Amino acid sequence: MIVSKFGGTSVGTFEAMQRSANIVAADSDRQLIVISATSGTTNDLVALSANNIDSTQREELLGNIEKRHIDIIEQCKEQDKLRDIFYKEFSALREHLDFVGRDKRWKDQLFAFGELMSTKIFVEVLKEVGVDVEWLDARSVMKTDSTFGNADPILASIKKKADKNIQKGKTYLTQGFIGSDVFGNTTTLGRGGSDFSASLFAEAIGAETLEIWTDVAGVYTTDPRIVPEAFPIQEISFDEAAELSVFGGKVLHPATLKPAIRGGVNVRVASSTHPDLPGTYVVKVADNKPPIRAISLRKDQTLLTVNSLEMLHQHGFLAHLFKTLAEHKISVDLVSTSEVSVALTLDTAVNAANKVELTDDIIEELERFAEVIVEDGLALIALIGNNLQKTSGIGGPLFTALETYNVRLICHGASPNNLCFLVDHEQSEDVVRMLHKKFITE
Ligand code: ADP
Ligand code: ASP
Ligand code: MG
Repeated sequence: MIVSKFGGTSVGTFEAMQRSANIVAADSDRQLIVISATSGTTNDLVALSANNIDSTQREELLGNIEKRHIDIIEQCKEQDKLRDIFYKEFSALREHLDFVGRDKRWKDQLFAFGELMSTKIFVEVLKEVGVDVEWLDARSVMKTDSTFGNADPILASIKKKADKNIQKGKTYLTQGFIGSDVFGNTTTLGRGGSDFSASLFAEAIGAETLEIWTDVAGVYTTDPRIVPEAFPIQEISFDEAAELSVFGGKVLHPATLKPAIRGGVNVRVASSTHPDLPGTYVVKVADNKPPIRAISLRKDQTLLTVNSLEMLHQHGFLAHLFKTLAEHKISVDLVSTSEVSVALTLDTAVNAANKVELTDDIIEELERFAEVIVEDGLALIALIGNNLQKTSGIGGPLFTALETYNVRLICHGASPNNLCFLVDHEQSEDVVRMLHKKFITE
């Protein structure tokens, strides 16, 4: 069995849906199809959920959503039926907007509109190309906790529900990104979470392969939008791909690979516009293991520096600091320490899969025992590869190459698969281009 996931751009127009449907039709082993909202829709829904939008902005966003879906629907054979379905859900969405803002729970229900609607349309497009497919509500399988906006899957329940609701030999179409908690409330897995959903489904049904169909031909050596010379990697290890996605390689949601590894599922990333290209195979052990395989970039990073002179020769400072952060569910990325100060980075990007909000409350709490400095406008760059902690000859050329840039924090040695540092946001794309040219060869 193959689980095939198609991202937003792969279902963003009628033509894209047709291309994706033809991919599904080409192999009858593709039995569980997971798709995202049409591209742009989740962004519009998130914007709609903001407390401070005025009615003009609201109508504009609703207009975008309506046009995007109706444009697709008008090209479908079942357009009358789909138009009815769309407007029924769309007016429910309008009504729903009056509640949003009060409660995170409402927001997740609002965000789910994107995936629910894209699957309702795509199921007809699949039927048009001859796929005998059943629409499955992901919420009947994807059980999560009640952390709205960033819910954690409950694996045992997902497995149980999958056994009950997904029959072998049949083909299903379902939604990525959404799930439901024990009370039946709709939840979401965090931005970009459809990859994660697909991997969880693959693990739960014991699929052999997970395919991630997207708008690029695999996992590239770096984001091809930033570096046109970047090229697809034929084969990459789970460890490297996991680090790449954690450190900003948007092509895979950071949590995607864990379920696949647990379930022994093969992973392939490929282009839905060029399905004949090989794409990237993510494997347990890759044949070649270059020290630097790829470079990732994550913008909108915050550097938090915490100083406490009182802690000189005292114990417990780090414990106290991390306990405070943990109590506020703040996930920390890089850490650099000295006796009385700690610098750490937080992912504060708007669309981050694990977005961190550094509120005044948290800062005030930290200020009770230390001086706190918050700096924004930084970007995290990671070199991804193999045995980086043991390979000599990387630091010298790297630091020489970075000579003219202001490097804020470096983490090297903790992981064999990455070497990370912070630079100014404005310089970050230049740095990635320069490093790609210098360190990555085909
Ligand atoms: P989807 O909607 O299919 O989930 P995404 O936009 O989430 O697609 O992810 C694909 C995008 O990820 C690409 O268009 C590319 O710009 C970006 N990207 C960032 N880093 C990489 C990388 N290392 N390899 C491939 N794509 C990358
Ligand atoms: N539609 C969701 C988002 O845009 C999930 C996804 O595309 O993976 O975040
Ligand atoms: Mg994505």
